[in-house]
Amino acid sequence: MSDPSSPTPETEPAGEAVQQQARCGLVAIVGRPNVGKSTLLNALVGQKVSITSRKAQTTRHRITGIRTVDDAQFVFVDTPGFQTKHGTALNRTLNRTVQGVLADVDVILFIVEAGRFGLDDAKVLALMQTEAMKHKPVILVANKLDQVHRRAELAPWLQGMQQRHSFAEFVPLSARKDDDVKRLLAIVRPYLPEQPWFYDEEALTDRSERFLASELIREKLFRLTGDELPYTSTVVIDEFKEEGNLRRIAATIIVERDAHKGMVIGDKGERLKRIGTEARTELEKLMDAKVFLELWVKVRSGWADDEERLRTYGYE
Ligand code: GDP
Repeated sequence: MSDPSSPTPETEPAGEAVQQQARCGLVAIVGRPNVGKSTLLNALVGQKVSITSRKAQTTRHRITGIRTVDDAQFVFVDTPGFQTKHGTALNRTLNRTVQGVLADVDVILFIVEAGRFGLDDAKVLALMQTEAMKHKPVILVANKLDQVHRRAELAPWLQGMQQRHSFAEFVPLSARKDDDVKRLLAIVRPYLPEQPWFYDEEALTDRSERFLASELIREKLFRLTGDELPYTSTVVIDEFKEEGNLRRIAATIIVERDAHKGMVIGDKGERLKRIGTEARTELEKLMDAKVFLELWVKVRSGWADDEERLRTYGYE
């Protein structure tokens, strides 16, 4: 790994020492609604996402995405309260939750719209201006740069921002531009601690996309059937095909009794349809790909007690 003759990545300024140790850290993306947080997260995370495997360091938080670039692993964590488009006023409890997350991460990306800073932005910034956060690196990401037509006006704005907080970095960019997003990753990289990855690369491959698919369908299944359905019901992925930006998935929900089958299917197939739609929508978001999902329901009475069958279903 530490071959000194290896080429310097384009994103590193020439002459700067290239770190070769593995890096890994938690990254939070915060900002008022509509500044482009989801767009940026999707772009930062790219295609491969897995939320399924966990290590102690990260179990306290919900992981929204992972990106590994060379030897650096970026683990993005959810900050509740910022995802919603409604209700910009963060209440006290939410503030505390958010601050709890922020206190744990290694670096914060504070997203604003380039050239703008309103009351809602100020409220979010205030969350990071506590005593405990004094030394936490906050990177100011000025998004939607493509909408700023007079770039010259950005300099005084950036100066003004500098006075509001001692930001670790200023990064004007557009979340819609791949090169900008790559540059941002390179800027964030040195803020990740030198430590082994939390997730092995294996956890970020198709195999886990397959697992992710079954977990997600299972989650929707139980959420939409309430407590009615016995937990012995399971989901088996019969087919998982990757065709460019498309995932073709066929899955079977296996229940124990005919009555359970009815519960899953619902009136005129409504419930099964909903399980499928919700699972598909979320999978598309997580995998950043189009998903064709085919769902079947089968009755396999007593399967839970049958070891042979369990094996065929992948529960070894
Ligand atoms: P969130 O509420 O902060 O998660 O914001 P979203 O990611 O949902 O983005 C809000 C809107 O801004 C969407 O319509 C995005 O398409 C748009 N948007 C995000 N990033 C950019 C950008 O770099 N340039 C432009 N012009 N629009 C963007």
